[in-house]
Amino acid sequence: MKKIHLMSPGPTELPPEVLAVGSQQIPHHRTPVFRSIFNEVCQQLKIVFQTESPVLVLSVGGTGGMEACITNLSKVGDKIIVITGGVFGERWAKIGEAFGRNVIRVIVPWGEAVDLRELYKAIKLNPDAIMVCGTLVETSTGVEHPIKEIARLVAQTPACFVLDAISGIAASELKTDEWKVDVVVAGTQKGLMIPPGLSLISLSEKAQRRLSETESDVFYLSFKKALHSLLHDKNPDTPWTPNISLILQLDASLKLIIEEGMEKVWERHQLLAEAVRAGVVAMGLQLFAPDNPSPSVTAVCCPVEINGELLVKIIRDDWGISIVGGQGDLNKKVFRIGHLGYCDRSDVLMTLSVLEIVLYQLGFPVHLGEGVAAAQQLFLKEVPALVDKQISLGV
Ligand code: PMP
Repeated sequence: MKKIHLMSPGPTELPPEVLAVGSQQIPHHRTPVFRSIFNEVCQQLKIVFQTESPVLVLSVGGTGGMEACITNLSKVGDKIIVITGGVFGERWAKIGEAFGRNVIRVIVPWGEAVDLRELYKAIKLNPDAIMVCGTLVETSTGVEHPIKEIARLVAQTPACFVLDAISGIAASELKTDEWKVDVVVAGTQKGLMIPPGLSLISLSEKAQRRLSETESDVFYLSFKKALHSLLHDKNPDTPWTPNISLILQLDASLKLIIEEGMEKVWERHQLLAEAVRAGVVAMGLQLFAPDNPSPSVTAVCCPVEINGELLVKIIRDDWGISIVGGQGDLNKKVFRIGHLGYCDRSDVLMTLSVLEIVLYQLGFPVHLGEGVAAAQQLFLKEVPALVDKQISLGV
């Protein structure tokens, strides 16, 4: 028998409440029952996105949502500024180029956050840019970008700030309206704790104006159609048959997130990330992005004497814990531990403990227990001493 644990930066584990909904019969989507659930999902999404703007629900994965932002909000030849710095920043550029947009890259070295002076320069040199695309958490490097500051720069221009928050939503602090982020794209298989398959996209008034001015040739992923169904039908609706099961599961997961509270959700992720970092550093490993680490995922440099692919494989196959290797240029150079969504302190302690054993088995000079102890010390600061409670129980 082996238990499976997903400590990857997505897909992440599903809470029992979400699993239970997945086993139920689905309602037809053009019924009052489903429409009422969909209405509630749309309202709850606003809380999680921290916005008063509409949030579209598209039945397509994260990359599909990113593509839909490019195709709905810009035309062939339009200039778009892209903040790179990893596989997913680069993905914005690749999508833009695939659709004939004029992509201006703000090059960010992998493992670093964007230099705001470089972004400022790009914005000044390209006043005709209609969009700035960025990433909240660059999943390939584990970096969190300074979204509030980026948004402040873009808000002073006619461009829309379009943010990939696929691995950041419900993990990293994100205040869409307060910070003036025009478009936020989220996926569902990470902080939102349901399987992959939906894209959730908020559109500010500035983005809605851009949408109405843009003649695009999208059909299935049309924002105009999705917005029309959401806002102008009697009840919020979708233009096509949506992924009903995922929407029902999303309803369950959003309830859990809102019950915990956004501030608490962000704090929990910060704590887990800090504990993972403390643990791996205490094992003698190096962080790939020590200066701007994200609360969702930690990229750890693979020591030269260790075969990173083998490390990840043993942890997964022998111990049932899915962590992941490096992507793109970081293949074999880093391994990544996800700590988002349905993830708690005990998951972190378990993962660090297994990492220590496997590093030890592979010959890395790790002292068993030191990494776990570093995380335990951190968690101890967060919990009240239980001695008094014990005494009050008469033990
Ligand atoms: N952006 C980021 C930051 C991601 O982490 C991912 C998924 N790893 C994507 C985009 C792509 O999402 P999907 O795999 O659902 O297409």
